Parts: sequence; C-alpha cells; structure tokens
Amino acid sequence: MHITDIMRGDSPMFSFEFFPPKTMEAAETLYQTIRDLESYMPHFVSVTYGAGGSTRDLTHDLVERIQRTTKLDPIPHLTCVCHNEEEIEGILLRYAKSAIGNILALGGDRPIGIAYDKSRDSFQHAIDLVRFIRRFNESGAHPDRRGFGVGIAGFPEGHPATPNRLLEMDYFKAKVDAGADYIVTQLFFDNRDFLDFRERCALANIHIPIIAGIMPITSIGGLKRMAELAAGARFPAKLLRALERCQSAPKMVRRVGIQHALEQCDDLLHNDVAGIHFYTLNRSDATRLIFDSLGIPRHRSAQASSV
Ligand SMILES: Cc1cc2nc3c(=O)[nH]c(=O)nc-3n(C[C@H](O)[C@H](O)[C@H](O)COP(=O)(O)OP(=O)(O)OC[C@H]3O[C@@H](n4cnc5c(N)ncnc54)[C@H](O)[C@@H]3O)c2cc1C
Repeated sequence: MHITDIMRGDSPMFSFEFFPPKTMEAAETLYQTIRDLESYMPHFVSVTYGAGGSTRDLTHDLVERIQRTTKLDPIPHLTCVCHNEEEIEGILLRYAKSAIGNILALGGDRPIGIAYDKSRDSFQHAIDLVRFIRRFNESGAHPDRRGFGVGIAGFPEGHPATPNRLLEMDYFKAKVDAGADYIVTQLFFDNRDFLDFRERCALANIHIPIIAGIMPITSIGGLKRMAELAAGARFPAKLLRALERCQSAPKMVRRVGIQHALEQCDDLLHNDVAGIHFYTLNRSDATRLIFDSLGIPRHRSAQASSV
C-alpha cells in the first residue's frame, strides 16, 4: 500500500524493522519473530539492505516472502553505495512488478573489508536516489499510478559526516523537497533529541511525518554494538548508571533497557509522535513487551500467516 494511504489515519503509526538472515537458524528465528509480531498488525515492516548491495537478493527475497505469505506491508531499504543507475532501475522494476508500495531511500553504510571509492558511485547522496525513484515513478512501470512512496532517514542527534548542523539541515531539507513522503529516524535514547529535531524540521518548513526509531537495549554487548553502528549515539547518564548497577545480571540489564525504551515510547506518544519504528534485531520479545505495556490497539484485525 502506498505510504500516503497507510498514513491517512489520525493515530500514530507503528512499524518493525528486520534484517535479512544469513543462516538457516537465523531465518527460523526471524520467521518466528514475524509470526509473533504479525498479530500486532503494524502499519508496515521494513527490511534492511546490506552495505554495498551485499544483501540485494536476500533483501528482495525476504520482502517478497513477507508480501506473499503475511498480511504485513513490507518496505525495502535501498542504498546508493556501490550501485549504478542500471542496477537501481533493475531493483525498482522487480519491486514494482511485485507491487511493493514504498522504498526507504538511503545513502548506505560503507562496505567493510573491500576497497571503496565513493566518488565512483552514480548516486553520491540519498537525495540522488530519491530523485531517481521519483523519475522512475513517472515512467508508469509501477502498478500504482503514483509509483513508489518514498521514505528517508533522519538523524535527531546529527549525522557524523556533517558536523555543521545548519548545513546538515539544508541538505536534509533538499532531500525532503526532492520528493520524500516520510522520515524514519536513527535510534536515540534521549527524547529531547527527537523533539528538538522535530522542531528544527518544522522551522525548516519540513512537514512530512517523522517516525521515531527506538531500539531497546537488551544486553551490555548489544549496547556496545549499538554505540559502534549508530556512531555518535548519545547514551544518557541516567540510563548508563542504571545499566552499570546491574551489569553482571543479564536479565536485569534487559529489564532496565526495555523499561527505558518503554518510557521513551510513552513520552513520545504523549508528545503526539507521528509514529514509532522498532529496530527489532529480528527478535520479538522486547517489542511485544513494550507494545503490551503501552496498551496500543492493533490497527487492523489480525489474521494468521503461513510465513
Ligand atoms: C531508519 C534508518 C535505516 C537505515 N537502513 C540502512 C540499511 O538498510 N542499509 C545501510 O547500509 N544503511 C542503513 N542506514 C544507515 C544509513 O545508510 C547511514 O547512516 C548513512 O551514512 C546515511 O544515510 P542517509 O540516507 O542519511 O544519507 P545521505 O542523505 O546521503 O546523508 C549522508 C551524509 O551526507 C551529507 N550530505 C547530504 N547531501 C549532501 C551534499 N549535497 N553535499 C555534502 N554532504 C551531503 C548528510 O548531511 C549526511 O551527513 C539506515 C539509517 C536509518 C536512520
């Protein structure tokens, strides 16, 4: 379904993010997670794209499987890194053929372990991909005459590649104006960063929905990986102090991390957030706990799937 139809209601949107599994065992965990979360009927789910196209087919296959075998609405991520126009067009054609409604258009993480020269990419920034998708939409190749809905990433704490925050907002505004329909943010742990970002967007005349990215911490190892992956992420002292108190008790660490994410979600809903996007890491338990504690009504009637 096109994102503008998904966003039509008044109530906040909820979405879950998955990544393509690389082993049979990981695939089983993910399919169980999808079964567990399907009954929550999120407004959409999204599937990540590996750096440099490393999961091109895996992402495509998972998106198609979710589309074919569940009631969920999958949105593939697509990144600029290491792709030329022909390749991106091929990927868009495949998704259009499967009637996938939307794409999350991203710059992409640098591939690790291979020599990479960004200047050789056809798409230097996500804005180029947004423009390309918009041009593709005009070709009429998509079964929906509006073509793909387009999402983009936002960074409440700022993106490390652009330390000048005023310039960063200029780039961001240009990306929105190139044709984005909605924004999903990077994870953050202090809601003040999100609320301030939302206000700065409003000041820059950005009025498309901003969906807040939430990732519950469930282990000390996970916290450390997060600090590396989401470079620049700020961890509030209050959260770190609570985690430090129980660092030798994994179950308590989990409880503290989930409680923090729950309080964030509760506060965001209180502040009329347009939506909350859960980085699930392909597991359902933390997300389910948070959902159940927030008392969020399921937005459509649940149906069993065969995923
Ligand atoms: C919700 C979400 C999902 C993600 N999913 C994935 C995924 O599936 N796969 C993956 O590889 N990565 C993913 N990422 C990570 C993301 O690709 C990286 O963080 C990337 O570095 C930034 O992506 P972007 O789309 O903001 O890129 P861009 O919009 O290209 O921005 C990247 C940097 O370039 C700067 N910039 C923009 N325009 C210009 C310009 N004209 N001149 C100079 N500088 C400019 C920006 O200010 C920013 O600092 C995700 C991030 C988020 C928040």
